[in-house]
Amino acid sequence: MSAAEAAAGFAAVYGTACEGVWEAPGRVNLIGEYTDVNDGFVLPMALPHRTRVAAAARTDGLLRLHSAAAPGTVSELAVADLAPGAVPGWAAYPAGVVWALREAGHDVSGGADLHVESEVPVGAGLSSSAALEVATALALDGLYGLGPARPELARLAQRAENAFVGVPCGIMDQMASACCTEGHVLHLDTRDLSWRQIPFDPAAWGLRLLVVDTGVKHEVGDGEYARRREGCEAAARALGVRALRDIAYEELDAALARLPGPGARALVRHVVGENHRVEQVAALLDAGDPRLVGPLLTAGHASLRDDFAVSCAELDLVVAAACGAGALGARMTGAGFGGSAVVLAEEADAEAVEKAVPAAFEAAGLRAPRIFAVPG
Ligand code: ADP
Ligand code: MG
Repeated sequence: MSAAEAAAGFAAVYGTACEGVWEAPGRVNLIGEYTDVNDGFVLPMALPHRTRVAAAARTDGLLRLHSAAAPGTVSELAVADLAPGAVPGWAAYPAGVVWALREAGHDVSGGADLHVESEVPVGAGLSSSAALEVATALALDGLYGLGPARPELARLAQRAENAFVGVPCGIMDQMASACCTEGHVLHLDTRDLSWRQIPFDPAAWGLRLLVVDTGVKHEVGDGEYARRREGCEAAARALGVRALRDIAYEELDAALARLPGPGARALVRHVVGENHRVEQVAALLDAGDPRLVGPLLTAGHASLRDDFAVSCAELDLVVAAACGAGALGARMTGAGFGGSAVVLAEEADAEAVEKAVPAAFEAAGLRAPRIFAVPG
């Protein structure tokens, strides 16, 4: 799928040429799970998979939306009437971005025609939603010359997902899609959106980073995500801090002793430990010691499984099979309850890992997972 194909798709749907094609990638998070909803650190990288939005401005205030993933149906909305809750289905993501731009005072009143094509696996924890939002924001910016910097567009995309679609996600996915650059992981402070790019080139180190998409999505996930987030906020209030990010790793034991029950303690142990692991991984990458990252990934998985309780049998199976086949480390990535895992392996062991994981799935009677290397 290319920009030219997205442009051709636009012409086929709308019968006219688009003015341009804008794109944004999906992401895989190397480490730092549920830290972004606690003002903490994350370490995502862009996938080679992209979402493209072919677009043309209008002058009559209409917003028309079409996706190759939902062929044949064009949503037709009035920009002036956009309001949270008013748009059902996938169209809420791009419509929410137009709404968030309008609410922030950007003049998008003329409207637009949008056609979406995407290579990002949908609902696989690889952030197809943020790729769609950011590509839409870039398209509107391009058509109307709006001018906000990328972090501001990411904030507006997050606002669209939070307030318009109704998903209480953090800022990681939108920032990753908007700001990751090739050959780097993005070391992002989700409190103030300061970041730096850390060089990350597994092939140059003799390593391979694999993404394993389990192909499963457990429906409990949406409610559980919100409950974890609320649990963390309640724990931060009990500890008298703005967010759990404000508990230093050295203060963890003292903080745990001040919490009322095992549930709150488990949440805090994960978030404070995970934030610390992000900083350790960033330091190892800076120091040129990528192999030592492996055990931190696996420790992060254990924390998400045992303390934060957001893993599932399929993700645990990926981690066990990959590590059993000699991987340096592995962990679930994204919000959990299905979706994808990430595996770091020596190049020489990667083939064994790529065989062992599907074999374990087959033995468990599960559908074969999809495995690909990143950057690719
Ligand atoms: P993830 O972001 O991990 O892929 P989400 O549940 O957050 O999973 O977002 C998936 C939703 O985003 C889809 O159900 C759909 O509504 C929307 N979406 C993503 N990509 C596309 C696309 N190319 N076309 C239409 N809708 C899309
Ligand atoms: Mg998403």
